Amino acid sequence: MPGFEVIDKKEKDAAIKVFDQGGILMAHGFDNLRKKFHVREFEQNFKKRINSKNALAISSGTAGLKIALKSLNIGPGDEVITQAFNFIATVEAIIDVGAKPIICNVDETLNMCSKDLKSLINNKTKAIIPVHMLGFGCDMKKIMKISKKYKISIIEDNCEALGGKLYNKNLGVFGDYGVFSFDFGKNITTGEGGMIITDNKNLDRIAREYHDHGHENNPKLPRGRDTKNKPGFNFRMTELQGAIGNVQLSKLSKIINGNKLRYNAFDYKLDSKFKRRFLIDESVPSFDTHIILVDDIIYRNEIISLYKDQGFGTKNLPDAKEWHCAYYWDHIFTSKEIKKFTKTKNILDKAIALPISLRKSKEQYKNLAHQVNSL
Ligand SMILES: *Cc1c(COP(=O)(O)O)cnc(C)c1O
Repeated sequence: MPGFEVIDKKEKDAAIKVFDQGGILMAHGFDNLRKKFHVREFEQNFKKRINSKNALAISSGTAGLKIALKSLNIGPGDEVITQAFNFIATVEAIIDVGAKPIICNVDETLNMCSKDLKSLINNKTKAIIPVHMLGFGCDMKKIMKISKKYKISIIEDNCEALGGKLYNKNLGVFGDYGVFSFDFGKNITTGEGGMIITDNKNLDRIAREYHDHGHENNPKLPRGRDTKNKPGFNFRMTELQGAIGNVQLSKLSKIINGNKLRYNAFDYKLDSKFKRRFLIDESVPSFDTHIILVDDIIYRNEIISLYKDQGFGTKNLPDAKEWHCAYYWDHIFTSKEIKKFTKTKNILDKAIALPISLRKSKEQYKNLAHQVNSL
């Protein structure tokens, strides 16, 4: 569950320290007035933690998706495939660069269906954006095989599964770019903010320039005389966010372990007759949301009411389904297109998401499972 739940004096002290160490709130320039570069430090710490070669801190996850698309030179005339269970930001980023979003249905992993993916590829397809929704990894082996065969880039949207793993690697490291969000609902938070990672030095350079008005950050020149060769935009992270991000990142393992304890307490106690969201092989989720699929609508509504009455809620499914399922995005897609997303809607209709909160105890989760079993 969100990093905001573990915010304490450490984040507060880190913010105050930024003011004590020169009070420079911008990540770049003002070199002689500052004692520290917090955003740069956050980038170093993040890439070490995730095990990627480069990390670039940015203003949001949505910005990260746009930066990745722009840096891969994707624009008008191009198609980008993403999934029907998603957050709307991914589709917005594709539209914002002028490309066409193509939507792939999900299967019972609640992530991109690799079988359907194949049928959507044509010679206009320039990128695939698999999205590791609510802590569970996509079937990256199959998706990467397809991307290699057709030479299509992958941008991994890992805004919702920081700390999750696949094939013993951290989610986010499989694509040409991996994108993370630190908005207030995510596994770690800086209020707003994000990170974009890549192992490719050249892709890191292009993204870095684009996110900062095209600045090449030429070490031989002061910022005001800096060299440039392409226009960019401003998607920079601030120093206050960087300082808070460093503290939150240091708590990530604690957050994931705390999630896991509660998730497993609930899952082990819950009757085996309940169908769980399908977890692909060699994958470890970030344990921040437990999902069951219940066919019977009356039974389903009873469970939803129980989760709500007991103060747990039902994160996104069904709480905020309209913002997370392409079936409801009639301001973006035609009614004919929307019909094709019915498969995803039908699966999501059965899903009940239980948020794992660090503010609730293991015993409370056990007790909830017991109550579900005896409905
Ligand atoms: C949160 C989220 C984003 C966007 O991140 P912001 O930092 O809020 O802009 C993108 N994709 C997914 C799947 C998300 O959950």
